[in-house]
Amino acid sequence: MPQHQYTITLLQVLSHLTRIRDLDMLELSLSAVLQEQLQPEQLTYCRLLESPTGLRVHTMVRIDKGDLRHFPLEEHSRVQAPLLGDKNHWLMASLEHNTRLTRRGDGGFQLLLALHQDQQAIGVFELQLLRSPGHDLLQVVDRMLGLVRNHLSLLRYAEHDSLTGLMNRKTFDVRFHRMMLMGHHTPMTMGPTTMQERAVSDAYWLGVVDIDHFKVINDRFGHLYGDEVLILLAGLMRQNFRYHDQIFRFGGEEFVILLGNISAEHAQQTFERLRWTVEHHPFPQVGKVTVSIGYTRIPVPSSASDVIGQADRALYYAKQHGRNQCCNYLQLLQDGKLNQPDAPRGDIELF
Ligand code: GH3
Ligand code: MG
Ligand code: MG
Repeated sequence: MPQHQYTITLLQVLSHLTRIRDLDMLELSLSAVLQEQLQPEQLTYCRLLESPTGLRVHTMVRIDKGDLRHFPLEEHSRVQAPLLGDKNHWLMASLEHNTRLTRRGDGGFQLLLALHQDQQAIGVFELQLLRSPGHDLLQVVDRMLGLVRNHLSLLRYAEHDSLTGLMNRKTFDVRFHRMMLMGHHTPMTMGPTTMQERAVSDAYWLGVVDIDHFKVINDRFGHLYGDEVLILLAGLMRQNFRYHDQIFRFGGEEFVILLGNISAEHAQQTFERLRWTVEHHPFPQVGKVTVSIGYTRIPVPSSASDVIGQADRALYYAKQHGRNQCCNYLQLLQDGKLNQPDAPRGDIELF
């Protein structure tokens, strides 16, 4: 291919990649681009996930002889991704060098490419190649990943709250919408047992967490200590939930959590554990802080505002009944503690 033609193709690829606003989509497209440019026999992309027990490795994309498969986190939340340990020492090596090409015993090559966001490696591509791609092509790929890294850093900045580092409200809308889209189809990679279990008991859950008497904390200790409480609480939430659960700061001292694929009992335990952890955590200077939580099941399909409205009603109930407690909206309805919402009205409004 003539040089200028190649440059145009490359710019088209970059223009396509930097239009993408979603990490999953970007990883998928990048896998397809690397497949096309380097023609490996096999390509695997693993996402690195922070968890309380250490970094975990989740295989997100695999392309085997041209056959691409995607394994989104939300659909695989039942399976605990393995820890990044001795088993994948090759992966750890790739984190030290952005690009690493080694010759395999059988004469082929293994190429490892780390994907970064800010200063942090968030994933690694592993390509099995029949022959070495050559220095020039490797340089092009390396620079392309450098540009994607800058793009990812901007995406991170736009998607997260600067005080706590949690995802912001705008990101919530995108994630909720994606959850609805995914809820509509059965993932091809899911076995029949998992499908059955999921149909019977599992669901997505949304919880609203609100700090109790936060105004008093601000008034008594000052705004800076208030901010410190928000940061520490964000850390406790990260530790409390699984790496594929999603935590958002909705504004002020209010947080929203999306839990995927668990039973009602498990959701109750998870939210209750957070409530307990916060109550028993010694916040420097401030001492004891408590939270109230309202949560509800997310029907598919549903609108974000309806579901948040339900969780908010449960939260309000918790606030009215002593605070420092977790309330399930559906349980409150069932127990007659909340009124059933009005049935949806027809299209015609009568005045
Ligand atoms: P309740 O138990 O009913 O939730 O009472 P509350 O005092 O927590 O709730 P209220 O809504 O009356 O007050 C929330 C306070 O949160 C008021 C506001 O000054 C404070 N706040 C909102 N955002 C921030 C922030 O970013 N940092 C700090 N330090 N305070 C904030
Ligand atoms: Mg509050
Ligand atoms: Mg509030």
